[in-house]
Amino acid sequence: MHESSLEHETGAHPERPERIVAITTELGAHDWAGYELVPSPAAPEAALTAVHSEAHVERIRRLADAGGGSIDADTVMSKRSFIAAQHAAGGAIDLVDRVLGGAAPTGFSVHRPPGHHATAERAMGFCLFNNVAVAARWALDRHGLERVMIVDFDVHHGNGTNDIFSADPRVLFVSVHESPLYPGTGPATDIGSGAGEGFNVNLPVASGSGDETFVGMIEAIAVPLAFSFAPQLVLVSAGFDAHRDDPLATCTVTEEGFAAMTGLLRDAGATLGVPLAGVLEGGYGLDGLARSLRASMEALAAPAGSVVVGAGDAWTPVVRGARARVAKRWPALADG
Ligand SMILES: [Zn+2]
Repeated sequence: MHESSLEHETGAHPERPERIVAITTELGAHDWAGYELVPSPAAPEAALTAVHSEAHVERIRRLADAGGGSIDADTVMSKRSFIAAQHAAGGAIDLVDRVLGGAAPTGFSVHRPPGHHATAERAMGFCLFNNVAVAARWALDRHGLERVMIVDFDVHHGNGTNDIFSADPRVLFVSVHESPLYPGTGPATDIGSGAGEGFNVNLPVASGSGDETFVGMIEAIAVPLAFSFAPQLVLVSAGFDAHRDDPLATCTVTEEGFAAMTGLLRDAGATLGVPLAGVLEGGYGLDGLARSLRASMEALAAPAGSVVVGAGDAWTPVVRGARARVAKRWPALADG
């Protein structure tokens, strides 16, 4: 957490400081699910430029110095936005340092602005720097990791993360997202490029999809992919805008669904003996956001195996179809 998350002013905008207030109120009333609350450092400049061009970082800094303004129709900055973005990325990095250092097996980086739409060259979709991508690169470059898995269950496709690691086989990116929806990327046919072919797994789902689809995609695809890929760190781009009350999308995931997805990934990490770090992305219905994040953090904090989910052979045809498609590149997912 960092107070600058409250100082990134966006005006009449769904991605607003009240999101952090709602989260702080809800989690604060529940002892932060037992987690220790730590202030986030600013990301080192070199960590930002490991993912973004220097020109991009400089543009964001200059626009803040000039008092802020609009980058595009969706993405707005105020004079403190650069600092907020530095801490949002820095919080994700610090969390990676902590979980890889053994301070805790799991943790959550709760900041705004979110990050997963930001590309190497450009801010978009409310995102300035790609926090989860910066954290993944940090884990590779500074901790010497060879394999990092990023699971993105934000209702929007994480186009920035997708593209930043498209050609990089060290990062397995798995995204469940509503389609068609902003930003219009992430078809199932986008599987990465070059040496990274097969290491982007896009799982678009239809408008109105709920727990059985989202949780099924995690259980039937993301979890077995984790066992095949054997990451040394699991990062979760945790957006809560697939919630049924969210104003920006039509999916119908519940708090229990988010807890199940997070718990399944935590269990996979625990079985593999690797830590899991959640990074907040979207979520624009204040109550749904705050309750879903709390449910997810409680699921993370619970003993491994305690989250009861599992549809098994009751996976929906949509989930089974997606699994069969992914199995062409990842044979471990082929049903016997
Ligand atoms: Zn989103």
